[in-house]
Amino acid sequence: MPTTNKVPARKEEAVPKRSLVLIFVSFFGCSSAGEDFDILIRNGTIVDGSGDPGFPGDVGIKGDTIVEIGDLSGKTAAKTIDADGLVVSPGFIDTHTHVDGDLGKPGSNANLNYLNQGVTTVVTGNCGDGTFEIAKTKTDWEGRGIGTNAVHLVGYGDVRRAVMGTEPREATPEEIEKMRSILRQAMKEGAWGMSTGLEYIPDRYATTEEIIEATKVVGEFGGVYASHQRDEFLRVPEATRETIRIAEEAGVRALTSHLKAARKNAWGMMPEVVDIINDARSRGVDIVADMYPYHFASGGPIIPIVENSGWAPFHLPPEMEPFAELRKKLSEPDLEEAEEKALREQYMAELAKALSDNSKRQEIKQSVLVGSPHRPSSVAIAGWDSYLVVVAEKNAHLVGKILSDIAEEQERDPFDVVADLVLDEPNLYVACGVMSEDDMLHAMKEDWLMFSSDGDALPITKETDDPVISHPRAFGSQARVLRKFVREDKALTLEDAVKKMTSLPAEFLQLKDRGLLAVGYKADVVVFDPETVHDVATHADARQYSTGTEAVIVGGKIGIEKGEYNGALDGKLLLLTEN
Ligand SMILES: [Zn+2]
Repeated sequence: MPTTNKVPARKEEAVPKRSLVLIFVSFFGCSSAGEDFDILIRNGTIVDGSGDPGFPGDVGIKGDTIVEIGDLSGKTAAKTIDADGLVVSPGFIDTHTHVDGDLGKPGSNANLNYLNQGVTTVVTGNCGDGTFEIAKTKTDWEGRGIGTNAVHLVGYGDVRRAVMGTEPREATPEEIEKMRSILRQAMKEGAWGMSTGLEYIPDRYATTEEIIEATKVVGEFGGVYASHQRDEFLRVPEATRETIRIAEEAGVRALTSHLKAARKNAWGMMPEVVDIINDARSRGVDIVADMYPYHFASGGPIIPIVENSGWAPFHLPPEMEPFAELRKKLSEPDLEEAEEKALREQYMAELAKALSDNSKRQEIKQSVLVGSPHRPSSVAIAGWDSYLVVVAEKNAHLVGKILSDIAEEQERDPFDVVADLVLDEPNLYVACGVMSEDDMLHAMKEDWLMFSSDGDALPITKETDDPVISHPRAFGSQARVLRKFVREDKALTLEDAVKKMTSLPAEFLQLKDRGLLAVGYKADVVVFDPETVHDVATHADARQYSTGTEAVIVGGKIGIEKGEYNGALDGKLLLLTEN
């Protein structure tokens, strides 16, 4: 049920009647070329995003709008797409991405790893990480062009950092006022709401009350609150209650981002979390959640040397030498390949030495198990039962195993096991966060659960590129839902899955005229083959495009045709103020 948001009046409500007649004519009249439509999608099965059963039919598009749906035989169009044997649905809306860092860059601005899967709108600025300079961002992105539409949330972390740096303390009333005024300006420029990353610095230092005060500004504009919650491991229920409290007291619609119970000891907690959300919804709180369709979270090498992978389990004390010095040298730009290799070898040799010195080993162990004041280590937050080995060459037999289980099998202390592994194969790749599929399926059945990806936009890749080890979700999430959860596991009907990727997110965002195939709605459309659509990306080779998408249309302009990208950059940064 909606809360008390002030949503800007829909534009057409303010349009005088005479203009309505003109609009009617321009929607349904003949196009300048004498054709009935600009684009006609023929003979498809229309899965319209509502969750209703698919039906055979045609879709007529004129300008950026869907103008007719049904049996359109005999009608003509400048461009006809044959969808025989294919599904025609609204373009997918991904409520949780981190593509904002990439949309302004050449190559990745096409957002092709999403567009290719039929995604026509992405939500950016998640997990507390997103600019508050909305007007500037719109100019930057649309100046170069972007491949999909975007809806942007202000990252609370960006706001807090601008006002008080990363100091580990509560905000003063004056600082809260400053943050509220930054947020107010961003909302005036068209931000869609605000996100927090309450597990991360600096958001983790904010009290619930501070977040509520900030979020009230978002509520004044009818914006949404999205949260990477304070805990995704054993305290998910508590963290979910906090999101609900913020939604209730700030008067906003709220979204729990990438919902999960992400360590083995937390498996089985999802039913409790689902009950908490359902209880809140039944008393009128508008809270929903999204989930990426993988049972493992992001990760990195078991020991990050220069890579910034905060969730890796093995971190040395930041000041410990000679490692700090070596890391500095390794981060220098224009480092020769041979030099880098030599430095890395030196780093690992020094590490072997340090680990065989009892007092240094204890110091490292403290850093791994506890971390430093105000910066708890990954293991302190997540526990050894959170790390899943996903890529290993030398230790291939460990792929698919959880670090705590490996230690248990060997009847050894997890730190000792991992210290050996670090020396043996420093590039062994672990995901931090491992979920049970039963938990995922339990949440997936709820009618407030949407799908997202949590991924980045990557530069356009070629088949001949070297494999990149990373999470496959940026290239595979939507296709994976359709392959795994619909076609293979039959956990969802096709209509339900499409709804979770179209009208459900549109409804939550109150995104006008999107999320359904309906007359008068924006022509964001995907045509895909339900029998073949599938994800190709894996951890070991993460940058592989999904296949099975025949055509993608963004705002009435074709971006993918016969499965190929045509270079179109027709996306817009959609503004809440213009919604
Ligand atoms: Zn997150």
